[in-house]
Amino acid sequence: MPKFKLEYIWLDGYTPTPNLRGKTQIKEFDSFPALEQLPLWGFDGSSTKQAEGHSSDCVLKPVAIYPDPARTNGALVMCEVMMPDGVTPHASNKRATILDDEGAWFGFEQEYFFYKDGRPLGFPEAGYPAPQGPYYTGVGYKNVGSIARQIVEEHLDLCLAAGINHEGINAEVAKGQWEFQIFGKGSKKAADEIWMARYLLQRLTEKYGVDVEYHCKPLGDTDWNGSGMHCNFSTQYMRETGGKAYFEALMKAFADARADHIAVYGPDNHMRLTGKHETASIDTFSWGVADRGASIRVPHSFVNNGYKGYLEDRRPNSMGDPYQIASQVLKTIATVPTESVSAAA
Ligand code: ADP
Ligand code: MN
Ligand code: MN
Ligand code: MN
Repeated sequence: MPKFKLEYIWLDGYTPTPNLRGKTQIKEFDSFPALEQLPLWGFDGSSTKQAEGHSSDCVLKPVAIYPDPARTNGALVMCEVMMPDGVTPHASNKRATILDDEGAWFGFEQEYFFYKDGRPLGFPEAGYPAPQGPYYTGVGYKNVGSIARQIVEEHLDLCLAAGINHEGINAEVAKGQWEFQIFGKGSKKAADEIWMARYLLQRLTEKYGVDVEYHCKPLGDTDWNGSGMHCNFSTQYMRETGGKAYFEALMKAFADARADHIAVYGPDNHMRLTGKHETASIDTFSWGVADRGASIRVPHSFVNNGYKGYLEDRRPNSMGDPYQIASQVLKTIATVPTESVSAAA
């Protein structure tokens, strides 16, 4: 029987945003294991801000498995953290209680910076590189340097080989800044894959001596771009029925729930959502057709199809937890009645 290297991966107890953790166990299986075949495992929660030293055991419960293309007979195992009884979710385990719906589709656009020696990859030791402009979707050494593209290409291949629904890449507005997109049906599926793609990126960049910086405004109050994680979403009702009245009711619900959304859209978002650059100010809510300065951008296709399709919430940031972002979107959508609105329209 082949021996498999199972990398159990979980989110730790750090706030406001958890870190990814992982450790390996070797187990024999006839062939690549199914989720149901994977045992629970434990770890020392006192080292991850998930337990006190005197009672430190936490339990890892496998919830998704992917082939690990970087290892022979490797598997990446996404886990939820449980209490020692193995059934009660740990307080840090947000995934256990979020709303999910297979008919709700999510496309996350993960932006981030590569960092080396305490500054964005490609920045000079002192001062700044040439101003923003040519970097977004740019090509050529002076625009993207010599290793960034190699990393993002390798990352893309790793994600695809792991079965992650990676949809694309682009160089972003700031030098050293990049984006990838992940699409998934269901909030847990899409969010698991963002976390796993983040894991693969961080593991990959180790060998380059490069870090991934997810902070939403790593260069502070400057004209250098911040990093978001736009959340594109659609429910079955939005795609198939929709309509102007439903859309307007939905936008009112989003406006009313503004604070609930901002609370889970990533730390330090006031630094990014200033109203000057990307999206509207953090204190207001607005939507606009093809408007990249709005909180929610409505694609032209949405209006042209009779207010049907998907919407883009531009406010979530690069450090946000996709489980909580997707769940809050579904929570707000759930407050808007479908039948009565379409009947009234
Ligand atoms: P932009 O940079 O112009 O905002 P991207 O192409 O980077 O757009 O990202 C668009 C995202 O929208 C992709 O992740 C894609 O999967 C997602 N998307 C497309 N159609 C839908 C849909 N019906 N429901 C949810 N997400 C969708
Ligand atoms: Mn994009
Ligand atoms: Mn982008
Ligand atoms: Mn976008």
